[in-house]
Amino acid sequence: MTGNVKETNRIALPRIGVLAIQGDYAAHAAALEEAGATPVEVRKPEQLAEVDGLILPGGESTTMLKFLERHGFFLALEKFCGSKPVFGTCAGAILLAREVRNPAQHSLGVLDAVVERNAYGRQIDSAILHSETTLPGGLLEMVFIRAPRFAEIGAGVEALAFRDSSPALVRQGKIMAATFHPELSTDRRVHRLFVETVQAART
Ligand code: GLN
Repeated sequence: MTGNVKETNRIALPRIGVLAIQGDYAAHAAALEEAGATPVEVRKPEQLAEVDGLILPGGESTTMLKFLERHGFFLALEKFCGSKPVFGTCAGAILLAREVRNPAQHSLGVLDAVVERNAYGRQIDSAILHSETTLPGGLLEMVFIRAPRFAEIGAGVEALAFRDSSPALVRQGKIMAATFHPELSTDRRVHRLFVETVQAART
């Protein structure tokens, strides 16, 4: 009977997709598991029907965008963003933003924010910082890799952590975005917040 109980628990966990075409999707999948979700690697638009939420990982936004546009994925994703929670980290945050600069680039436009790519130059393009956050539990470690910067966020966008004076973790309803890589830290507060958002949207 223990087997049945286990099976029931597994089914009750939210299924969260990780776009797995490029970038560090494996680390996100592991982080989701630790945060209480069942990760699903998503490589085809049809798979979006099987998940309750989606993570767009870091990587190279231009490469991801080319793939998405070539495989009829972009429209499916646009639709998905309108109904289910989506969390974009680093390159994923760039894909979600309303406007992309440095250089300009097509995006899903579901997050009311202006994002500037590779905003910290070559010398200091990667850094690990600790920031005050509105998430309970003290300072938040943030790993930045060739990071973008939110140059502007709309009035309906909540900033949960900052790098200098720019928002680094934001939320707008069911959409979350981070300019850093929470999956590369051991702190699971950020993934837990997304899992909670997915759970809330499911009920
Ligand atoms: N520099 C990348 C881009 O502009 C993002 C970097 C990352 O995801 N770590 O798409």
